[in-house]
This record gives sequence, structure tokens and C-alpha cells, in this order.
Amino acid sequence: MNRQFFSVAIDGPAGAGKSTIARKAAASLGFVYVDTGAIYRTVACAALRSCADPSDRTSVEAILPNINIQLDWQEDGVQHMLLDGEDVTSEIRRPEVSGLASVVSAIPAVRQFLLDTQRNVAKTHNVIMDGRDIGTVVLPDADVKIYLSASAEVRAKRRWLELQERNRSDTYEEVLKDMQERDWRDMHREIAPLRQADDAIAVDTSALNLEESVSAIEKIIREKLTL
Ligand code: C5P
Repeated sequence: MNRQFFSVAIDGPAGAGKSTIARKAAASLGFVYVDTGAIYRTVACAALRSCADPSDRTSVEAILPNINIQLDWQEDGVQHMLLDGEDVTSEIRRPEVSGLASVVSAIPAVRQFLLDTQRNVAKTHNVIMDGRDIGTVVLPDADVKIYLSASAEVRAKRRWLELQERNRSDTYEEVLKDMQERDWRDMHREIAPLRQADDAIAVDTSALNLEESVSAIEKIIREKLTL
């Protein structure tokens, strides 16, 4: 790995606030923010479009050589996801894509397929990359590793409020159940399960608001940058 660039790995369960916090911290530090969940979601989106049974391992493996996934940072600062040239940035946020992303991400061939895409960004930019296995597998030599979590109830409440703002009718109980199922799959899969890297700093955001969470993360990164 090219050590010219500084890398921050942020892992943790769904809804811990990783993407919002990492995006804000990256903007303030002038780093590129890489949302790796969006990349898995894009594979899920491809599977939904092309596979008769999108949760069948063999069918998903079969589409991999034929799909092209690109990350594109446009002026809005948002990481856009392109699937075969089509912008699927909004589509990948649909709830059925969320559930399927955690199913396809347990397929070893999918993880292998996306490894270089993720590593290449860190070879050419200062990055804050968030996901489930960034500190353990994708960037094991990251300069800073953070494990961001919050209680399942707090995470589900935050996600439910977001959905309410988008006028969705999902109940809090449904959101909590989906989140717990997703966490279980992410933590118990055979390959690259979600876990805290031995050298990661744990940050629990259950009792912190967004600003407090961002400052806690920035403080950890800035301390390492000035060493
Ligand atoms: O972070 P987000 O919720 O968008 O990720 C969607 C799904 O992608 C997760 O539930 C997880 O199963 C998978 N994922 C992963 N490894 C990553 C990032 C996401 O397995 N590095």
C-alpha cells in the first residue's frame, strides 16, 4: 500500500451514524469520504435487476463479471454510485436494497470483487472510509481505526425518524427488527464479519448528538495527524 496518503477506517453496525459523521469529518479535514456500504448496495441493486433469485449465491456470482461499478464524487460532495454508467445513488437507499446488501455481502466472491475498488481509492487519496471490515480486512494498516456503535434501540430510533421525515410508514418495531437481523448477518457471516479491530478506538454515540459525535471523531483523527 502506498503510505503517502492518510487513511481512517470507521467500522460499526447499521445506523451508528457512521456515514453522516464520517462525511462531516472528511469535509472538515479535506479528506475523501468513501461509503463502502453504498458499493455493496450497488451490487444488491444489480442482483435485483438481473437475477431471478437475487439472494441465490450462484446467480449473484454469475453477474459479477458483467457489471461495472464506479464511484463518482460530483460537486454536491455526495458519493454517487454508477452501475453500468447509470446513477443509482437514490435507488440503493430503498429498504429492499438494504436487506439484500447484507445478503450479497456475505458472498465471498462479492467481497473479493470489491476489494481492489476500495483499496485503490485509499492508494490515491487521503480517505475516511466507513463500512464493516475496513479496519480488519480492507485497510488493515489504516492510520486511524475507529469502531463506532450505539445501542440497537438508539440506532433504530434514529433510522425510524429519518424514514418518518421521508413520509414512510415503517413502524419503529419493524425498523428495529430489520436492523437487528442485518447486524446478526453482518456479525455472523463466515467472511469478514463485523467486529472491532484489535487496534481500533471504540466510540459509543448512544448519548452523543451529531455535533458531539463529529467532534469526538475529529479529535481522534487530528491527534494522530499531528503526531
Ligand atoms: O453501511 P450500509 O448500511 O449502507 O451497508 C449496507 C450493507 O452492506 C451492510 O448491512 C453490510 O452487510 C454490507 N457491508 C459490508 N461491508 C462493508 C460495508 C457494508 O458487508 N464494508
